[in-house]
Amino acid sequence: MSRTENVDVVVVGGGPAGSTIGALLAKAGHSVLILERERFPRYHIGESMVSGMAPLMEELGLIEELDVRFQHKSGISLRWGRDPEPWRSDFSAAFSSTGSHFTHAWHVRRGEFDELMLDNAQKLGAEARQEAQVTEILRDDAGAVTGVVYKHGGESHRVSSRFVVDASGQNRLLTRELTQTTWQEDLRNVAVWSYVDSYHPIEYKDDILVEAIQGGGWVWGIPLSETTLSVGYVLSAEKLSEATRGGRSHRDVFIECLEASHVAKTMIDPAAVGELRTARDWSHVSDTFHGPGWVAVGDAAAFIDPLFSSGVWLGTSGAWLAARAIGAALEDPEQEQRALERFDELYRQLFKDILGYVRFFMDPTRLREEYMERAQEIQKMVTSSSRVGFISMISGVGAIADVVNFDPMGVEDVEDVLQEWDEQTAASAAGGEGAAERPGAAGPEAAGPGAGRAEAVGA
Ligand SMILES: Cc1cc2nc3c(=O)[nH]c(=O)nc-3n(C[C@H](O)[C@H](O)[C@H](O)COP(=O)(O)OP(=O)(O)OC[C@H]3O[C@@H](n4cnc5c(N)ncnc54)[C@H](O)[C@@H]3O)c2cc1C
Repeated sequence: MSRTENVDVVVVGGGPAGSTIGALLAKAGHSVLILERERFPRYHIGESMVSGMAPLMEELGLIEELDVRFQHKSGISLRWGRDPEPWRSDFSAAFSSTGSHFTHAWHVRRGEFDELMLDNAQKLGAEARQEAQVTEILRDDAGAVTGVVYKHGGESHRVSSRFVVDASGQNRLLTRELTQTTWQEDLRNVAVWSYVDSYHPIEYKDDILVEAIQGGGWVWGIPLSETTLSVGYVLSAEKLSEATRGGRSHRDVFIECLEASHVAKTMIDPAAVGELRTARDWSHVSDTFHGPGWVAVGDAAAFIDPLFSSGVWLGTSGAWLAARAIGAALEDPEQEQRALERFDELYRQLFKDILGYVRFFMDPTRLREEYMERAQEIQKMVTSSSRVGFISMISGVGAIADVVNFDPMGVEDVEDVLQEWDEQTAASAAGGEGAAERPGAAGPEAAGPGAGRAEAVGA
């Protein structure tokens, strides 16, 4: 074992969530070491971005490069619900309702996108070590996380830090050990996909296509370029195992799904479909996203079904929130608990909203207007149309204000203040001192931000 290094923050995993938090903390002047077990560029699924990511990409200085290197994404084209007509939603409608200058998102090759993000983190001052696999979490006697052990260049290394960030994706290095995870049984799916080098675009050629398949499941079409289309299907694990009984292959099911589609089948020749890839697509949420000395972001914290392409947006938004919470805790260690709780609360709310909406949307027998109205209700949008509510919800644009304005040291919940006050009063009464006066007569109208406190997502 080589000598122990010491940094402010160690990040396990150099995917989008890890490189975002590494970049932002380094930019704020903290010493950051990102440990990534692979050598980039490495393959990854998750290619269609949503426009709610645009402000973060601007903060990271990446908008121009994304615009040059990747395919623009204007919105989503759907064939979904009781009404058989295809329909679409344009991202720019969500942005214009907020007066924003952004208009679009991107479809990316994740190998290239993730490498760009990691390189950018290094430009902003983080150190990134690739082919460096974290093998052990270090904890003190009280259980607080104090660093990690990792393997690099055939040797074990130890690094101690004030914080360790679990951004290890589905590997869930810390959350697997330190949290209880709720697996969402109704979202236990499998995805099978491939790439074709020639396709017929749909009418809105920059859109992702999402199409329900009769009998369950759905297909996607993601235009990665004018010639390359990512195309795949998602079925429940149960349905897929039934469909592949009797020696039927994933390819047989793939062709069957395409044939059952109305729009996807017009895009490609099934015979042109190359090597198939497959991944477990099983939604899960950890019961906590933080603890003493650690936080979790991205898939390591929670993963919600890819139906709305929300994974990278959720992961990078959580990283943005966590960077501010860790920054506050590094500046004033006494505020660690409060800052991390606030991060956890808001981040959980983002997952909870998407999870609830995915569940509602998964029922393909509703009317289009019902899908839209529910999105508007979840976001408590009273002034916009349900059409804008829908696109704001699924693009992440509706949550931008909360994410951008997040202040881990902001005004405390009135209820928390009152509870603390009652505890202090009880303690002083027990100690024989006179009763303290409760601040402000707090009726329900005084509940303030605490009134909307998030429920546990995993419930
Ligand atoms: C079928 C499918 C389709 C999807 N489609 C979309 C989509 O269209 N759009 C979208 O936004 N999202 C999509 N997603 C979700 C998306 O892929 C993830 O949400 C996203 O990649 C999460 O980013 P992350 O940084 O948390 O994790 P990752 O991108 O997985 O990065 C984690 C990194 O940690 C590294 N690592 C793991 N363990 C260790 C260790 N011990 N030591 C060091 N490094 C380690 C890994 O090598 C990896 O590079 C999809 C997911 C699935 C399954």
